Amino acid sequence: MKQWVKKLVEQFDMDWGTPSNGKEAPQAPSLSEDRATLLYILDVYNKHLFEIQNHQVRKVRAKLDTFAKELVQSDAEEVEKALFKIRQFISSYRIDEYTYVQNTFDDFKRIIWDFADHLSEEAHIEDSSQGDINQSLEQLREAVESNSIEELRARSREFINFYLKHQNVNNERRSKRMESIKKNLTTVKKQLMEANQTMRRDHLTGAHNRKSYDEQVRRYLQLHDIDGDPMTLILLDIDFFKKVNDAYGHDIGDFVLQECVRLLQESFSREEDFIARLGGEEFAVILPGCNTEAAIRMAEEAMNRIRKEVFVHEKLEIRFTVSMGIAEITKNEGADSWYKRADEALYESKQTGRNKYTISKGTAIKRVA
Ligand code: GH3
Ligand code: MG
Ligand code: MG
Repeated sequence: MKQWVKKLVEQFDMDWGTPSNGKEAPQAPSLSEDRATLLYILDVYNKHLFEIQNHQVRKVRAKLDTFAKELVQSDAEEVEKALFKIRQFISSYRIDEYTYVQNTFDDFKRIIWDFADHLSEEAHIEDSSQGDINQSLEQLREAVESNSIEELRARSREFINFYLKHQNVNNERRSKRMESIKKNLTTVKKQLMEANQTMRRDHLTGAHNRKSYDEQVRRYLQLHDIDGDPMTLILLDIDFFKKVNDAYGHDIGDFVLQECVRLLQESFSREEDFIARLGGEEFAVILPGCNTEAAIRMAEEAMNRIRKEVFVHEKLEIRFTVSMGIAEITKNEGADSWYKRADEALYESKQTGRNKYTISKGTAIKRVA
């Protein structure tokens, strides 16, 4: 028996019956050229099996091994039966193999097609790259229609490369777009913050307005609840302001209001001091951390500053004074009560000569929790 045939037969590790002398392993029977060729074909087939639907490689391999053994072992009569079985199996297996390959090819084409559709849709959005995409799509379409797996494989690779490049461009564009959106958002945020600020400011004087005062009082009262530190409110009103308007005109009146705020800011200059124009020529100053005595010192300084200020308008000297009402917060007092006491004190200052301050003697109304 030829060497290659022997080798082929040996790999089946077959039992060739009981040893004749009890010592040497029995030899495989000598194979005819025809059977050896067939065995060789089965062996090659075996080596190139691949997994297909309904046929596990392991099982097909076992089946081919059985056929090979039958081919080696069967006698002249049996061999015909064996050959018939082999032919039947191989032809049905080939049909399955063909169907599997065809389906895989079709699936592949379908996937490529979906992909192309998706890209085509995108191309409508991204007008500038539409020309390139259309060209690439056309080539791919031709490859699909040519039904050649080689052609399709090559075109798909090109197409995927093109797609990735296109995606990169898109990503860049997207990140540029995001950047400009971010920039716009920052501007909008800034504008909102500014709008928020102006909503809380008095246009004429730049002091906080009534709305801002209401919010700040609430915040400071909450803080006071926690730290229990003293806090004092000063309400002040320009004396005889109507006369300023009447004598020098509304513009000078406006100017005096602005100057009044400037002087108050100089007098109550700590970061926590809060100055608001509540309306007309009436102002509020909240002094956190100040008891009545401390507030009086600051109030006197402010009044002096104001008294000393002289504005000259068309050779006329303009001076003004203010009256004040001072109220230190009491435990659990509400914002309304606090304001009312300061206002009553201010009224008292007006009633008793103006250009002075009065300390609240009123009874505080406690907050209902
Ligand atoms: P009193 O000492 O009792 O406070 O007298 P007064 O004249 O200051 O008070 P009154 O309430 O009689 O007059 C306040 C005036 O302030 C009347 C109003 O025209 C004027 N006024 C209110 N708001 C403004 C403003 O924004 N600009 C100007 N120029 N005048 C204003
Ligand atoms: Mg006044
Ligand atoms: Mg007034």
